[in-house]
Amino acid sequence: MADSLLSDAARQLERALKYTSVSEDTIESLKFPKASLTVSIPVRMDDGSLKVFQGYRVRYDDARGPGKGGVRYHPNVSLDEVQSLSFWMTFKCAALSLPFGGAKGGITVNPKLLSRLELERLSRGYIDAIADFIGADVDILAPDVYTNAMIMGWMMDQYSIIKRQLSPGVVTGKPIAMGGSLGREAATATGAFYTIETILPKFDRVPQDTTVAVQGFGNAGGTLAELLFKAGYKVVAVSDSQGGIYATNGLDISSVRQFKDSTRGMKAVYCDGTVCNVTDHEVVTNEELLALDVDILIPAALEKQITADNAPNVKAKLIFEVANGPITSAADEILEAKGIYVFPDILVNAGGVTVSYFEWVQNRSGMYWTIAEVNQRLQHKMVEETERIWTIAHHHTISMRTAAYVHALDRLGEAIDAKGTRTYYNSP
Ligand code: NAD
Repeated sequence: MADSLLSDAARQLERALKYTSVSEDTIESLKFPKASLTVSIPVRMDDGSLKVFQGYRVRYDDARGPGKGGVRYHPNVSLDEVQSLSFWMTFKCAALSLPFGGAKGGITVNPKLLSRLELERLSRGYIDAIADFIGADVDILAPDVYTNAMIMGWMMDQYSIIKRQLSPGVVTGKPIAMGGSLGREAATATGAFYTIETILPKFDRVPQDTTVAVQGFGNAGGTLAELLFKAGYKVVAVSDSQGGIYATNGLDISSVRQFKDSTRGMKAVYCDGTVCNVTDHEVVTNEELLALDVDILIPAALEKQITADNAPNVKAKLIFEVANGPITSAADEILEAKGIYVFPDILVNAGGVTVSYFEWVQNRSGMYWTIAEVNQRLQHKMVEETERIWTIAHHHTISMRTAAYVHALDRLGEAIDAKGTRTYYNSP
């Protein structure tokens, strides 16, 4: 396991241990995922052939509540990746004080090669395979890379068919008509926006003089780029899986998004177009985008984008991790030595799971909130926990990442100890 993504993720935790007084029980309990399920999903393809896909669901820890985490469709999905994502979810939910543990799921597939009907059969087949492993009080799903509200709707419907009762609480990020929450689709970006707005004044900066580059132009990155653009930030570069665009004076992000959306094909799920097709700008590679001389760099695509190899080239002053795990632990050290501030994924992208929590609460209470209520509660949470983590970082003179882990560990430790028996065995 020496070079696995999970062991690299665990290094982030190890750095935090000396700044907390959590029990040995807590550290021992968090060493491994609680349960990892691998399934085969047979799918009847449109041409009549049968294809079997590999799927995963991992629950890392549930001391603070049921498992919670998205489902990713991507050709690189592996058990190691899903375990790492479930590890980050555990600390994210604790850092934001949400009553959830951490979980994640995924299917190894290039969904862009499937028809819409094949995609639906695959999504329903995944639920058939994992139905006994999930539940509104056990483990709750949500969207992640290349999954969206439509897919969440199919998953919730399939689970309800299996259980013979409507079960909206088992999946969040659903279509509004099926019990989804207003604001969920934009929540990851909105939450990241609140964190950036909380941090910016601490560096005496204003949006108008702040340049931004965003890697990844999907639900999280594309929405955040537009929020920043509308708030007056100069978004000079954006990219997607096919490459990026750059304009020194800033891009009109609303037009770029409109173009991307207008190229959605028949499937209405994935775009055929890329930001690279938008004219009046320079074309950059993803590697070049990461090395641009900007004030804020936002990796919002996939993990392991900034490594020990390219970290020395990074020139941004602040990095906000919207993707999960975009910076390896070796790169983290290089960036810290260069004086670059990194704001970690388990804080910055937590708006998604926070509004997923709000959706789960609304499903269980039957009372639905306005968009203003959702965003007001989200803002309160993001600002409060950003300030708390900032204070911990300054108190110990540690990075925001280590501070976020300290903060989360303290909460996890309380829950694990509250269940534990060590005191009982140690007492005379
Ligand atoms: P998405 O599928 O909506 O978009 C992914 C984007 O990344 C697309 O624009 C795609 O073209 C681009 N991309 C893929 N490979 C790339 C590469 N090699 N280089 C550059 N761009 C690439 O996914 P999303 O929901 O926006 O998720 C993006 C990241 O945010 C992931 O790390 C995900 O785990 C994280 N995240 C998402 C949510 C959520 O609610 N959607 C919540 C928390 C974290």
